[in-house]
This record gives sequence, C-alpha cells and structure tokens, in this order.
Amino acid sequence: MLGPMRAIHATQAGGPEVLSTVELPDPQPGPGEVLAEVAAAGVNFIDTYQRGGVYPMPFPHVPGAEGAGTVIAVGDGVEGLAVGDRIAWADAPGSYAEQVLMRADVAVPVPAGLDLATAAALPLQGMTAHYLLRSTFPVEAGHTVLLTAAAGGVGLLLTQLAAARGARVIGMVGSPEKEALAREAGAAEVIRYTELDDLTSDVPRIVRELTDGAGADVAYDGVGKDTFEASLASVRRRGMVVLFGGASGQVPPFDLQRLNKAGSLFVTRPKLADHTVDREELLWRAREIFDAAGTGTLRVRIGARFPLTEARAAHEALEGRATTGKVLLIP
Ligand code: NDP
Repeated sequence: MLGPMRAIHATQAGGPEVLSTVELPDPQPGPGEVLAEVAAAGVNFIDTYQRGGVYPMPFPHVPGAEGAGTVIAVGDGVEGLAVGDRIAWADAPGSYAEQVLMRADVAVPVPAGLDLATAAALPLQGMTAHYLLRSTFPVEAGHTVLLTAAAGGVGLLLTQLAAARGARVIGMVGSPEKEALAREAGAAEVIRYTELDDLTSDVPRIVRELTDGAGADVAYDGVGKDTFEASLASVRRRGMVVLFGGASGQVPPFDLQRLNKAGSLFVTRPKLADHTVDREELLWRAREIFDAAGTGTLRVRIGARFPLTEARAAHEALEGRATTGKVLLIP
C-alpha cells in the first residue's frame, strides 16, 4: 500500500519563496504509465524559469522533470518495465516529489554499476551536452569551443565531452574555484568573465588573442542576456553561436542582418525535446552518457545535495551562481 507522498509545490509565479512542501495523494499509474519512487531529483535551470513565470506553467505545480529511482507500480499496457527496475528520466514533470508518474517511454534503464544519484545527475544536462556537441555543432578534433558557465551542470559535462573529442575548450567561469573545476574537466583556457571591465568587448578580444585572430569555431552560450553579444563577437567567419539558455535573462529580439555583417555567422536556439524525438534517439543519447559515466570517461560532479524539503534553498543557490556541477534534491 502506497501512502500519501511529500512533494514540492510552486504556488504562484515568483522567486524561490513560492516553493513549499505539501502532501499529495499517492499517484496511480494510468495506461502506458509507470510510477517511480524518486531516489534523487535533478534541479535544472528550466525549473527556475517555470517557477518564475518565464516559461508559462499552471500554478500550483510540482516542479522538476529529471531524476532517478525505482519502479514501484506499472500501468496497463506497459511492456519492458517491471516493479523493481532502476530507471532515470529527463521528462517526468513533477519530479520534486517522493514519487513521480511518467509515460513509460521516457524511462531510461540505469545500467548496473551506476548509482541512482549519479544517474539522476545526468539525463537532462548530460543529454543536452551530448546533443549540443554531437548534433547542433558536431565538434571535432582541432575545433576551438567557447563555453559559458563551464563549471556548471551542463558546463562540466560539455567541457569533458568536447575535450575528449580533441577540441580546445575556452571556458568562461564566475570564480577561481570554478576555474579550477573547469580546468580539471579539460578546459585548455579559462576566462573569469566576472572580473573583466567590459565582458562584451574583453571576451572577444581574449578569444581572438588565443586563436591568432580567427575566433572560436563555435560558442555555446547558456547564460544568454549578459554574454550573447560577447559570444557573437568571438566566433570565426561562418562560425556558429548556439544559444541554449538564459541563466542571466533572455536575449532581446535580434536583427538577422547582423549575421551577414559579422561574417556569415550561424545562430541557433535549440532544446533537448527536439533532440530526443523518439525512443531510439533518447536511448542512444542516454546510453552514450551513462556508459561514459560508468567507465569513468565522464566524471559526474554532484556539487550539492539538498533534502527535498529544501527545494527553495536549492533554487536560491542555483540562481545565485553558488553551485557547481549538478544540484540534487533527495526525498
Ligand atoms: P548551471 O549549473 O550552469 O548554472 C547556471 C550558471 O550560469 C551559474 O552557475 C553561473 O556560472 C552562470 N550564470 C551567469 N550569469 C548568471 C546569472 N545572472 N544568474 C545565474 N547564473 C548565471 O545550470 P544548468 O547546467 O542547469 O543550465 C545551464 C544553462 O543551460 C541554463 O541556461 C539552462 O537553461 C540551459 N539548458 C538548456 C537546455 C536546452 O536543451 N536548451 C537543457 C538544459 C539546460 P558562472 O558563475 O560560472 O558564470
């Protein structure tokens, strides 16, 4: 018999203070669904955009979409999953909870040997790093890659994956501690962008100095508002700017003619859902990331673990630039 469960509610659009702990009826899986007991829920920047009203959401809602845990109930018609299976997920809305329902087709098996906290740390940020450098701009040996928030969740994973492919990573970070982590992950160069007089002109100048004037092949920018202009000015002729988030705010509307003047540049604004469109693609990305973590090729840094009931503190830390690597909530 499953009891009522604890979960986090975002009661209205607002700051971290709108998060509170509630008790909800125990969920029951419908057809095609499974119910998981959550071992760890991933905290991601998108959870803060949804809580804050940047991305429209109904209120109240249980935040979160990522985690790992154990199947405790299976709905009708579900094949290939059974009670007791260890699974992870990147797209199960309501994951800040002791239990979460999901469509069976978003559940990814966790390989033996990978603990559930590590598995919870990977689906969203790991598959994002994977598609960004395998599909959006296929990074190869010899490429120079510029990356914002290189010691963050996506940042540390992307740095390692790009370095492993033979690319030269120029990571931008907000503190000396983050610089050490980015270098450990394989960043060849690190720019502490918070210490610059004028980030928008200083970053492109430094990147051009480091690349004999050419510029980076690709800039992966998840910080957005504060860094987009610097990213744009840092890539080479016909280079690409991949805007994949807005941790500092959203980038304002943009005149496409500027791409022509700046050297026939490419700009894209991708999201994970468009890169896990069917079960085959989801499992391909998840397996590659899990296998790399399992063999130790990809080191997973869990920078902070908060009890589930301290979701508010977790959001404050993430939005306050106080975290490195992955942030988890533990029910
Ligand atoms: P991070 O762990 O990278 O945390 C965000 C980091 O952004 C901070 O630690 C900080 O690093 C940097 N930052 C710079 N300016 C600010 C600011 N004003 N406020 C807060 N943080 C700032 O988070 P995630 O790895 O979860 O996400 C990184 C980005 O990737 C986010 O924009 C997120 O939305 C995006 N994302 C996009 C996906 C997609 O498919 N498009 C999927 C997953 C994530 P520092 O101090 O070093 O600058």
